[in-house]
Amino acid sequence: MRLILLGPPGAGKGTQAQRLVQKYGIIQLSTGEMLRAAVAAETPVGLQAKDLMANGSLVPDKIVIGIISDRLDQPDMKNGFILDGFPRTVPQAAALDELLKKKHIKLDAVVELRVNESALLDRVEARVAEMRARGEEVRIDDTPEVLAKRLANYRTLTEPLIHYYSERRKLLTVDGMMTIEHVTREINRILSAIGAVEPKGGAKAAAPARKAMKAARKTARPAGKKAAKTARKAPKTAGKAGKAASRGVKKASKKAGRKVASAVRGGKAGKAKKTGKKAVGKASKKVTKKRAKR
Ligand code: ADP
Repeated sequence: MRLILLGPPGAGKGTQAQRLVQKYGIIQLSTGEMLRAAVAAETPVGLQAKDLMANGSLVPDKIVIGIISDRLDQPDMKNGFILDGFPRTVPQAAALDELLKKKHIKLDAVVELRVNESALLDRVEARVAEMRARGEEVRIDDTPEVLAKRLANYRTLTEPLIHYYSERRKLLTVDGMMTIEHVTREINRILSAIGAVEPKGGAKAAAPARKAMKAARKTARPAGKKAAKTARKAPKTAGKAGKAASRGVKKASKKAGRKVASAVRGGKAGKAKKTGKKAVGKASKKVTKKRAKR
């Protein structure tokens, strides 16, 4: 399984990545962790990254792309990976596409953890307090001032990736405001729905179809930066829009669902899974288009 976790600082990417690592035996690649290690070891990369990281700026694309490219070549990557904190800019995403193409690696999905911005500062403060309590060294960039800069960077540089991956039909959005347990369950649910993992307890032929349709509904989300901003600022409006979107997806996924069901009836579980996958993409694309029209 090959995934990207997308979300602002404090969204819970690290926590969820750890859980996915344990469940699926895949490797977590966190550019933040890798860079912190480079800073601690005072490598040339670390020396370049140190001040930028301390003040909440991004490290140049070229550096992080280089780190990731080297890492993807290592043999422990063959079971799969979760990218956490990369890509963080559109040029990084484009470079990753190129890298994966060259290395013949297919990305399964991009999981976006959607959270209310107002919760993020509290979360980061709680993380700092926990680290202190455990006697661990606190991250130098976990202060309210630097966090504000990291968030601003996320909004301008990283949030466009939501649109980028939504256009490429890779985006799956999960509500990151739920409990850690619920978020984990939801991520696992959508991953089996798209066929990235085997559903628990053996794959019953009808399960992928049902789940794919559910996932298609869940994938309904505002596309692009503007919509994301609206969702952040006006949860009520977003709620309304979400309902309208899910109506759209329902229609689209109903149609797709019939196709899946017929594949299942024909005993073609593999095809059903594929069709289900297609259904997710089709349904969410349709909604994206509809929204764009509005
Ligand atoms: P966060 O909790 O803000 O997501 P990370 O641990 O992922 O933090 O990253 C910490 C810092 O490392 C970032 O603020 C940035 O300076 C640098 N960094 C990590 N990943 C990247 C990347 N893909 N591109 C550029 N800079 C990065």
